[in-house]
Amino acid sequence: MKFYMDSSIFLILVSYNTFISSPKSSDNTLVTYNDNRPVKACFVVLVRNSELDGIMSTMVQLEKTFNSKFNYPYVFLNDDYFTEEFKERTSALTRAETKYGKVDQQMWGYPDYINQTLAAESRAEMAKMNVPYADSESYRHMCRFQSGFFFRHPLLDEYDYYWRIEPYVDYTCDIDYDVFKFMRNNNKKYGFTITFTEFPQTVPSLWQTVMNFKRDHPDVVAHWPSKEDSLIKFVASKDEESYNGCHFWTNFEIASLELWRSNDYLKFFHYLDQSGGFFYERWGDAPVHSIAASLMLHKDKFHFFNDIGYRHSAYTHCPSEPEYRDKCSCDPNISLDYKDPISCLSVYDAAF
Ligand code: GDP
Ligand code: MN
Repeated sequence: MKFYMDSSIFLILVSYNTFISSPKSSDNTLVTYNDNRPVKACFVVLVRNSELDGIMSTMVQLEKTFNSKFNYPYVFLNDDYFTEEFKERTSALTRAETKYGKVDQQMWGYPDYINQTLAAESRAEMAKMNVPYADSESYRHMCRFQSGFFFRHPLLDEYDYYWRIEPYVDYTCDIDYDVFKFMRNNNKKYGFTITFTEFPQTVPSLWQTVMNFKRDHPDVVAHWPSKEDSLIKFVASKDEESYNGCHFWTNFEIASLELWRSNDYLKFFHYLDQSGGFFYERWGDAPVHSIAASLMLHKDKFHFFNDIGYRHSAYTHCPSEPEYRDKCSCDPNISLDYKDPISCLSVYDAAF
């Protein structure tokens, strides 16, 4: 999305620390355009009817900490039809608009070139290695959908930015500014709170497939930033011969839809999809998004939302700086960031 300056827009130099404090690499002084025009943005969630209690819990916290002040709409997606109860109870939790969509067969199903017998055999093989979701067919459809299709769902057509949410997560800090305007006004494309390390058994051929894509698509690679300007060090081993497993946890994303709708990403996804790795292995949307964004975007397009306290499953991000103590209800002592080796935040920092 282009940013146009006109007379109503003032260029303000903000010392970033006074606005929102972030440690280490994201501690940049930013040029902030005080552009108050509305942003076309929404929450998006893929969710099952059976997770109604979980998404209600998520929404209550999101409304309390952020959205009661900003009223961004919610887009609910499902591979099944949402029940009336689901629609009634979720729409009752917000003053914002709520939309409900079904995902069609093309976005959630086997492409005709996938050998389903082979896919079943590889699921059985993976199950022997105790990999989470090894034997789940629906998990693979979900990861493929989140990797290559959610941003093409017609209900998202009118939006430029999204915040992905999930059932059963916590938001633990008050957010007093509009995160979508922050993204637009600072020309950010990808925001995260938690970085994580992938189980290597789920993505054995992903990196090689990405390298093959680079070899076969110099037309696309021509648009990518130089290695130095990219975030390749966040995802690559030292010799760049393999994937280091680091990724942004995609259950939380505040990002640009334009990034995924770009011809470059669509070609990238299509190439990956045709290799079959979503089904013959168990490629997650997190490594796919993270590797793509790390190669395609200049590293100044990323933002660590340190100020958004967040918990998904057993893992938490909680800011430790004193200015957040009154705004957050989480415990900074259990924040994953630099404490747990499963976090990749220090690898992220080192990439700058
Ligand atoms: P994890 O975070 O990797 O453990 O995976 P989750 O089970 O949380 O799934 C990720 C997201 O996709 C969540 O928002 C789920 O509600 C949703 N999801 C996963 N599988 C399905 C499915 O088969 N149907 C629907 N409608 N949603 C799903
Ligand atoms: Mn989850």
